[in-house]
Amino acid sequence: MKQYLLPQGGKFYKANLHMHTNVSDGNMTPEETKRAYVEQGYSIVAFTDHEIIVPHNELTDDSFLAITSCELSVTESRPQLPFSCKKTYHLNFLSKDSEKVVFSTFSADHVHYVNAKSFITDEMKQYDYRHVYSVECINDIIARSNAEGFLVSYNHPVWSEQDYTDYAPLKGLWGVELYNTGCVNSGYPDTPQPLDDLLRQGERVFPLATDDAHHYGSCFGGWVMVKAERLEYDAVMKALEHGEFYSSSGPEIYELFIEDGVLHVRTSDAVQIFYSTERRATGAVCAEKGKTVCEAAFNLDWYLKENETLASQDALGEPYIRVTVKDQQGNCAWTRAYFLDELNL
Ligand SMILES: [Zn+2]
Ligand SMILES: [Zn+2]
Repeated sequence: MKQYLLPQGGKFYKANLHMHTNVSDGNMTPEETKRAYVEQGYSIVAFTDHEIIVPHNELTDDSFLAITSCELSVTESRPQLPFSCKKTYHLNFLSKDSEKVVFSTFSADHVHYVNAKSFITDEMKQYDYRHVYSVECINDIIARSNAEGFLVSYNHPVWSEQDYTDYAPLKGLWGVELYNTGCVNSGYPDTPQPLDDLLRQGERVFPLATDDAHHYGSCFGGWVMVKAERLEYDAVMKALEHGEFYSSSGPEIYELFIEDGVLHVRTSDAVQIFYSTERRATGAVCAEKGKTVCEAAFNLDWYLKENETLASQDALGEPYIRVTVKDQQGNCAWTRAYFLDELNL
């Protein structure tokens, strides 16, 4: 029996989940942002201006959805150093409640962009969460945010000058960026390493490709294709929460399913389709030079057999499978990781 890993029903909607407008340090208005993305076939934008939530529900209509969200940063406090030398955590918060503007880890003092300050309300001023650069503080922010109805993502680790010691202890993340157009354009391309490091510890975190656009030049590079029942706030947030999407900087994934122990993938033209796991166990279909492939079928028998052996030796970690598709331009699409306990194998 087929098990669809991307939902069989619903429809794919193209989303940019990381964006700055002139509410903080971007140079496009929210309206210009919507127009630009709709022109390029997007249906969803998360407006993640810095340090403050400003909903743009007035932009939502039958063919466009604005997600209420923001990006918080917590930077090392070493006054003797310039910003370029300091590590910094950047986290995005996508709200399940489209009207949400206050949250317990908000601090009016933390809002530093002039435009953003003009959106601080008296109600917001009552919040004065103290941001400290530490794993404890970040985990507290994530835990509180999850409890308050936010999906939390960990952004651009490479640009943030962070390494394993900074992200490995994080708990409760929903997503981690492995592609960020702004960072790619400025010479800080991210990698899937933080994703796999977190997954190997059993953190069920999803891969995100985003733009982090501050101007038109960094739009349309990385996106999420979310499969939802309909283009409505609750349906889309539910699909995002449950990982019913893939991320991409180019290729499309049309179908992903398991049938009789075989993983099937159907894609747009690609030069490589491969699956990877929590250990050195992978499989790949590669196109001959100058040609392309658009489907792959991977028999998972040997991987499952090795799992049985590892389990009998009490050495089985958190087994998962995820798929990557690469096209002729070197762009990729990434599925989320599917942990074995989710799969009918
Ligand atoms: Zn950032
Ligand atoms: Zn950003």
